[in-house]
Amino acid sequence: MLLPQHIPSTLLQHPLLDQMEVEMEVMRLDQVHPKVSGNKFFKLKYNLAEALKQKHQQVLTFGGAYSNHIYATATAAKIIGLNSIGIIRGELLDSQNPTLGHAKAVGMLLKGISRELYRDKTNPKFLEQLRQELGEFYLIPEGGTNALAIQGTTEILSSNQFNFSHLATSIGTGGTFAGLANSLLPQQELLGISALKGDSIQEEMKQLLHTHHIQSQGSLSIWTQYHHGGYAKWTSELIEFIHWFWESFGIPLDPIYTGKMAFACWDLLQKSYFKPGSRVLLIHTGGLQGNLGFAQRTGIELPSPLA
Ligand SMILES: *Cc1c(COP(=O)(O)O)cnc(C)c1O
Repeated sequence: MLLPQHIPSTLLQHPLLDQMEVEMEVMRLDQVHPKVSGNKFFKLKYNLAEALKQKHQQVLTFGGAYSNHIYATATAAKIIGLNSIGIIRGELLDSQNPTLGHAKAVGMLLKGISRELYRDKTNPKFLEQLRQELGEFYLIPEGGTNALAIQGTTEILSSNQFNFSHLATSIGTGGTFAGLANSLLPQQELLGISALKGDSIQEEMKQLLHTHHIQSQGSLSIWTQYHHGGYAKWTSELIEFIHWFWESFGIPLDPIYTGKMAFACWDLLQKSYFKPGSRVLLIHTGGLQGNLGFAQRTGIELPSPLA
């Protein structure tokens, strides 16, 4: 019901690509749906179907105040006729925040909780308390990664992408990477660019693949040096890159996920990581709704199709 018919893509044209004899294309998951952009669309699809199947009237999930997941869940739930509840990290909900403003406008019930309580988000006792207070609900975990989400992200790649030698995606909780790994072909390499600081993501991804019985046919690599300071942190180099990418290719990026992913791919191109003849698919996972909140928080305006 939520699935798009067609995912657009954009071929990049640049002298460096010609010189390196590398082709790069961007898969525009930011354009899969006018309201539920990006990978969250795929992650939510089977979860919402399951909520309906179990005859739930509402879904509940967790997220930060600028979360793409909160934005997408609120929108998708509204579209298929489910009520939604967002439990937001931080007690005071800013009424000017565009992400929460949108979630509220499409009917999501928002509840801010302290950072201490928020850490308890997977504790069965805490979830039971929420059920007492808010009524029965279908639970979608923070970031949306579970078995049904991975079933959805396994569908991102189709037979149209068999020709690419490399695919690249951003990694947050890893549900997108896991689904892509699941559908990878033997001759393909999947690059995961971590949006978070630290190397523990290597072990966590191994665990996640193991838990979901995914043995990729292709080869996998996870890159941890492109976080630009950590999750939701940025450098002026990253901001400049996002502007340059927009001016060069007309594609908007976000500073949390897709900007870091594209930055990494361009850096690897410059360092001759991709051999001549490579065809690289950059998966634009969306997240552009966050650019408005980013501007509000930092005063830094970024290219945005919503602006
Ligand atoms: C949530 C998100 C990601 C991370 O996806 P995971 O499945 O959690 O790894 C990447 N890009 C964007 C734009 C996102 O909103």
